[in-house]
Amino acid sequence: MLHKIPDTALAPEYAGMIKPIEACVHCGFCLPTCPTYSTMGDEMNSPRGRIFLIKETLEGRINSSDIEPFIDNCLGCLACVTSCPSGVEYGELITPYRDWAESKRKRSTTEKLQRFALLKTIPYPARFRAASRIARIFKPIARYLPKEFGAMMELAPTELPPKIDFKGHYPALGQQRGRVALLIGCAQQTLAPRINAAAIRVLTRNGIEVVVPKSQGCCGSLAMHIGESQEARQAARKNFDAFPTDIDAVITTAAGCGSGMKEYTHLFSGQDEDQRTQANAFSSKVMDICEYLDNVGFIPPKKNESTAIKVAYHDACHLAHAQKIRSAPRKLLTSIPGIEVLEPDEWEICCGSAGSYNIEHPDTAKILGQRKVSNLYATGADLIATGNIGCLAQIEFHSKDKKAPIPLVHTIELLDGEI
Ligand code: SF4
Ligand code: SF4
Repeated sequence: MLHKIPDTALAPEYAGMIKPIEACVHCGFCLPTCPTYSTMGDEMNSPRGRIFLIKETLEGRINSSDIEPFIDNCLGCLACVTSCPSGVEYGELITPYRDWAESKRKRSTTEKLQRFALLKTIPYPARFRAASRIARIFKPIARYLPKEFGAMMELAPTELPPKIDFKGHYPALGQQRGRVALLIGCAQQTLAPRINAAAIRVLTRNGIEVVVPKSQGCCGSLAMHIGESQEARQAARKNFDAFPTDIDAVITTAAGCGSGMKEYTHLFSGQDEDQRTQANAFSSKVMDICEYLDNVGFIPPKKNESTAIKVAYHDACHLAHAQKIRSAPRKLLTSIPGIEVLEPDEWEICCGSAGSYNIEHPDTAKILGQRKVSNLYATGADLIATGNIGCLAQIEFHSKDKKAPIPLVHTIELLDGEI
């Protein structure tokens, strides 16, 4: 039990922080898998250190401002959850803590502007497209800009693919086996709409009817993970209204969105009963595309010839650590004749993308991005596959200087059988 702040003294949305703090036995097994501990090497930048610092802050022994750098450095990758033998759910601590601490925080004007720019552009495809065009102009002078904006300009894509306007409904082909609604995402819609197109083809070919709600928007994960819970709830409520309820699942092809939507139960824990019920009902239907296809029984694409392809599979943290989905993508990929899945070293270490982390912490993200790329390239693969748009963008960015770049695809593109 926390000494000075019993759970009754915390608002309901923050009471869940107590359990992970109490469950931690300070064994340190999580330290080697933590990307910040492994790059910075100090206890305060480890999961165990952060849990202790948050406990001290909630008990009033230190100020939240004293621990801001260590909390900010955390990628929220949840590798510490996978490696913890005591079952400490660190995600149930860091997300509400960030929200709790945000209201007490004094941010600089440039920080405020950066967060405003992130929250008001990335979740809106039209604005994101316009912002990318502007960012391209500033790319050559990115290094001279304040660091809060330099990384934003540097990471902006040099060109964007044509927009795809999805229909609202795609009937199942052959015998119908299910009906789902697809979250097309925000950043993904701008950066790689081909991923959703492949998802629709795979689902319908597998006998699944697909609804693409027209009025859907961002799932709110980006806002949630930087401590802007109110903004995240607003986004979620919009989707509660937009998505039909007579479906088997809400499908996403973005690991970050999937893990965020599965966290709605925590996000709405302090809201009224109606909202909690709605959030729980929505959240319980959320499934990653690989999780769903594995559940219904994936029918691999028919190919005239099976070409041998060695695929290095990159586990997105929000799929592997946050949603515990590791075997389904591998099982689905290897069900296609000719595909061999290769395992890179340090699979559990984040690539440095982590929502907007590579924009907010470009130096650490660069170290992690380069480390990930070198582990993936060391496999000798013909292709790299992963299940998250953020990882795709980060790996692509840090592969750009390679003399012989290895093609990079979303897992669903391989399951589509067109590659
Ligand atoms: S492994 Fe789990 S119990 Fe051990 S220090 Fe890390 S979070 Fe705490
Ligand atoms: S979420 Fe990732 S970065 Fe944060 S403490 Fe856990 S392992 Fe380290």
